[in-house]
Parts: sequence; structure tokens; C-alpha cells
Amino acid sequence: MAKELTTRTAQSVVVLERGIARKTADYALDMDELDYAVRLRMMQNIAEETITHRHTPTGNAVPVRQYGSFLPGSGVGGAGEHWNGAAWRFLPDLFTLRSHLTQKHGAAKLPADLAVQDWGVTYDQLEPHYWYGEQMLGVSGKAGNLRGKIIEGGNPVEGPRQHEFPTPPLKNSYLATIFADATKKLGYHPHSQPACNLSQTYKNPDGITRPACGYCGYCERFGCMIGAKAQPSNTLMPVLAQRKNFELRTGSWVRRIVHKDGQATGVEYIGANGEEFFQPAGIVVLATFTLNNTRLLYLSKIGVPYDFATGKGTLGRNLTHQAEGTTRLFFDKPLNQFMGTGALSMRISDFDGDHGLTGSEGLLRGGMICAYSFGNRPIGSFDAAPRGSSKTNWGSEWKAAAIKWRDRNSGISLSGEHLSYRQNFMDLDPTYKDKFGDPLLRFTLDWTEHEHRQRAFSDEVARKIARVMGATVDDTPPARGKYNVINYQSTHIQGGAIMGVNPDSSVVNPHLQHWNVPNLWVIGASAFPQNASHNPTLTVLALTYWAADAMINRYLKNPGKLA
Ligand SMILES: Cc1cc2nc3c(=O)[nH]c(=O)nc-3n(C[C@H](O)[C@H](O)[C@H](O)COP(=O)(O)OP(=O)(O)OC[C@H]3O[C@@H](n4cnc5c(N)ncnc54)[C@H](O)[C@@H]3O)c2cc1C
Ligand code: SF4
Repeated sequence: MAKELTTRTAQSVVVLERGIARKTADYALDMDELDYAVRLRMMQNIAEETITHRHTPTGNAVPVRQYGSFLPGSGVGGAGEHWNGAAWRFLPDLFTLRSHLTQKHGAAKLPADLAVQDWGVTYDQLEPHYWYGEQMLGVSGKAGNLRGKIIEGGNPVEGPRQHEFPTPPLKNSYLATIFADATKKLGYHPHSQPACNLSQTYKNPDGITRPACGYCGYCERFGCMIGAKAQPSNTLMPVLAQRKNFELRTGSWVRRIVHKDGQATGVEYIGANGEEFFQPAGIVVLATFTLNNTRLLYLSKIGVPYDFATGKGTLGRNLTHQAEGTTRLFFDKPLNQFMGTGALSMRISDFDGDHGLTGSEGLLRGGMICAYSFGNRPIGSFDAAPRGSSKTNWGSEWKAAAIKWRDRNSGISLSGEHLSYRQNFMDLDPTYKDKFGDPLLRFTLDWTEHEHRQRAFSDEVARKIARVMGATVDDTPPARGKYNVINYQSTHIQGGAIMGVNPDSSVVNPHLQHWNVPNLWVIGASAFPQNASHNPTLTVLALTYWAADAMINRYLKNPGKLA
């Protein structure tokens, strides 16, 4: 948003970021797995601020003291610095999911606790903004649907694209190749994942040139030391650094959005030296990830908090994560999985959305089934031997098994849609506080039978594929446990400040403008009424460009409510 505003208008933009400044050169010296991937150097410091979690609206929440099922970033670029680089468009019907499911099944057949909604924006409206984002990032991939024509080798169920990807797909790993062969034999349609880890040198429309990826595998949880992965420090910051109307203040922790008579007047923040500041503003853009977008609206008393008991209110509702699960495979030869990149993955979308579902599975929506080649690093990929291969989890027998299986194991994973439910939401914790004494954000979140069924279904398909791949499959049944804040799943946390066409059921309007405070814009996956099977960031970007157009072309010319 800062780049759109500073390059397309004369507005002065101040960006307040509570973390540190970053540049590509910072990553060149010390790509240490222990430091970055295990001790989470680039993530939010949860000794200063964390969330609390409970499974039910009547349970007691407790603070998350060790990350965790998701990893919010901190510092310039946020988690966009240490992301994997998977850059997906969402399926067209996800944007009108309530209408789609009602039409397909009838309102009476939908679960009573289902909270999914239409977004107020359609895939066709976002398509040019997706394309703009893909060009900025240089996404590598192959179209599966080009202007309505289905192209072999691409994702056949994706929405129609007007353009081929800016760069060709990444090279395939050995695992990706045998997964593709096996799924083809079974009649599925394998395709590679769109990736911002460049397959070749690329210059974007802003004139930023980045090199091809070296498949080093130090990607997820790291910044790319050569800049092959699109990250704000190499795509946005070089452009912003040239703008005289742009200022970045790091170490600036925003605590409140100040507002009067339905207008935001600025923000209060604590600066790097602990001093308190008020920054006046004509427009406030809140872009602090799902968690703090929701929390800062609560703390600033903007909007009507969601009340689970009555179903009234909107702030905090429709918290979603992602339905995930992995079927573990073992091979009789090494896979060379130490080579890879954050978004290198072969997958099938034959069960994505409601494609391929017959009704007998008891599923409203499915997901993608994938084989990942992120690059197995020495610490993270150790100790992945089949169950029973060592009697102990220590000593020489265990070490021999761990070494033998280190590069002979892999997984087939589900990346599934997470529907929103009335009982999954965010609000302020009544007990626990952050380092300034402000209440923490409280998650009320648990899996439902739908996510358990998605996992079981994916496991069944994964076992079929694994057998054709020649792998031995771990016999552990798919997890049916409660939502677990300990094991990493993905940082795809959505909702809380959702978008929609009606102020009674959404926090922001279809242009991401707050319904009650027209000069406040809330940007990010907090706007998603439910989660796709796909990674969120390209959609966050497309929505940002869409909102920027509304702000620049309409609001700045005639300030007021746009819907
Ligand atoms: C390991 C990992 C891998 C991922 N891989 C992918 C992927 O492959 N594809 C994909 O689509 N997505 C991926 N994601 C998710 C992706 O990173 C996020 O969707 C994206 O970064 C969200 O962007 P954002 O700007 O909304 O929030 P963030 O990137 O989280 O940025 C928010 C910023 O706001 C700052 N902030 C928060 N509160 C305050 C405050 N009170 N005052 C001042 N500053 C504040 C934070 O410090 C942070 O820098 C991944 C995430 C992680 C952690
Ligand atoms: S795998 Fe590629 S994109 Fe990722 S850090 Fe290494 S060189 Fe960069």
C-alpha cells in the first residue's frame, strides 16, 4: 500500500514497524539453521506479546509460551521475508462460497454452525490485481487455464488467467518427478506449485532484477541471501527508498488507533527509545497481520465485538487456519531432498474446492494433495525413521536409524480449505497482558468433524499414490486430535476483520475500508471470511492493489464511505 501511494500520489506516507530494518545483504553471512529455523530469529518475540488459546467458548485460555502452530514475523517485510514463496490464486468459487454452497446443497443442508460468507469481491474483479502481483514477484509456474482454455501440465481447476506466468516453473526434484508419474498413472493431473523463488533471472515492472534460485533449501524461516525469493526487502524497499514522500520508522510499536467522531486522527505508538508518540494521519492503513489487525481494533474500541452467545457483532469472527495432515512415506534409496526451495512442490488439485467430491466423503470442500521439496536441512530433517526402527529414541541404534532414514523419508500432505464456524473467533483475553499491560488476543479455535474427514480422505488418496511411487507407508492413522498450538502447521491465520457487503456481518467493506471509520483501511488476511486450500499472500497482495485503486481513484478524490 505504501508503494502504491508513494508512487501514484503525492501523499506523504509514514510506515511504523515495531521490528528491525532488513536488507538482502543481512542474510549473506550467517544462514544458521539453529538460529533461524529452530530458535526462530525472525519471528515475533512472544515474551513481549503472544496470544492465548482455548478450544471452546466456555474454556479457560492459556498463553502460548513456545511457538507454535504458526509463526508471525517481526521486522521490515514481516513474515514475507522468511516465507516459502508459494504464490497461489484462490479458486473463483471461494469468493462467493456462501452462495455457492447454498445453491449446491440448499441452505437447510448446511451445518448450523457454518459461518462462511461471500467476500463482496469476485475472482474476475481481482484477476488483473493477481496478475500485477505475479509480475511484481516474478512468479514461476505454468498456466492450467489460459483465458478459459485448459492447458495440460498446469492446474486444470484454477480460475481463468489472462496471461501465462512471468517465468517458467521451477526444476523438479526427484520426489516431485516420481509423485507426478504416480499421480498421472492413477488418472490425476499433477502440476507444480507457483513459486516466488525464481526459476530464472527476472526483471519486474518496477525495474528490480533478481537472480534464479540455487535450490539451497535455506528458504522457509530465512531470508534469501541472493534475493532469488521475492521478499519485501528486495522488491519493495529499493523502490520506496527512492521516494521522497516515504518515511520508515522501525522500532515503533503501535498501541492504539486514535479516532474521533467516526474519523481516525492518527496512531499512538512507543518509539525505539521507549518514548510515547502521537502520529497524526489523514488516512490510517492497518497492516499488522491478522493477529494485530484484530487486536488493535479491539484495543482502539473500533467496531462491534463479536458475541458468540448471540451471534451479533462482527469484530473477531471467522477465525480460520488451514486443514493439514501428512502421510509419511519411506523409500529404499536416498531422495536428495537436501536440495529444494521453499515453494518447490508437485501436487494434484483433483479434489480442490468441491472438484472430484462425490458426496459420499461427507465433505463440503477438499484441498490439494502435495509432495514438498523444501530442502531438508540437517537439524530439521533428522530423526524421521519409521516407527519401530529403533527400540529407544537415543543411543547408537537410534542414531544409525536416524542416519539411514534421514534422506529416505518424505510425505504426502493435504493443504485443505478451512471453513469458518461460529465457535471459532478472536477477542481480548480477560487475564493475560503484553509487556505494556494491554490485553492479549485470545483464540477460541478447534477442529470440527469436517477437518478430520478432510484428513482421512487425503490420507486414503496419499496411500494410493505412495504405493504407485514404490514407497512404504507409515501405518499411523490420520490425527483426529484437538487443535494443537504446539506443532507448526502454517502461518495462514485468517479472519477477525472480515470483508463483506453488509456491515452487520463484516468489519470492512469490499474495498477493505472500515464500515464505521471511512479513513481507516484494514489490509491483510484478517479480511478473509474463510480460508482457501492455498497459501494466502498473493491474495493479500491482490486485495491490497484492489483496495489501493479504490483509495487512490475514488476516496482521495472524494473522501467518504465507498460502500
Ligand atoms: C515460515 C513461513 C512460511 C510462509 N510461507 C508462505 C508461502 O509460501 N506462501 C504464502 O502465501 N504465505 C506464506 N506465509 C505467510 C505469509 O508470510 C503471510 O501471509 C504474510 O507475511 C502476511 O503479510 P502481512 O503483511 O499481512 O503480515 P506480516 O508479514 O506478518 O507483517 C506484519 C508486520 O506488522 C508488524 N507489527 C505487528 N504489530 C505491530 C504493532 N503493534 N506496531 C508496529 N508494527 C507491528 C510486524 O512486526 C510485522 O513486521 C508464510 C509464513 C511463515 C511464517
Ligand atoms: S532455495 Fe532459492 S530462493 Fe530459497 S533461499 Fe535458497 S537460493 Fe534463495
